[in-house]
Amino acid sequence: MSYYKYTQSEAPIGRHLYVLATGEWRVMRPVIDNSACRGCGLCAMYCPTCSIAGSDERRFTVDYSYCKGCGICARECPVDAIAMKPEEEYDGEC
Ligand code: SF4
Ligand code: SF4
Repeated sequence: MSYYKYTQSEAPIGRHLYVLATGEWRVMRPVIDNSACRGCGLCAMYCPTCSIAGSDERRFTVDYSYCKGCGICARECPVDAIAMKPEEEYDGEC
């Protein structure tokens, strides 16, 4: 399992903070349909790993390095714009 070790200057809470690359655990991948997305931001608000970010009002993207595939974003989306798909369909690509 890989992890990223913050440098001391990047880690304000401690000198030895390790962050797991939680994306390696994922078996289901959230895929956002940007044409259906209303830009409410609920998916980003509820994501426990802060893996969703919006680059503008209607374009939200997932950081697959840290998304662990829990599906909370898909459950919270009010317009079902996020589909959870089996990871093997993507053959390791991000
Ligand atoms: S599946 Fe879970 S970890 Fe991944 S983006 Fe959605 S809420 Fe975040
Ligand atoms: S919860 Fe659904 S509608 Fe809201 S920003 Fe996320 S994908 Fe878009």
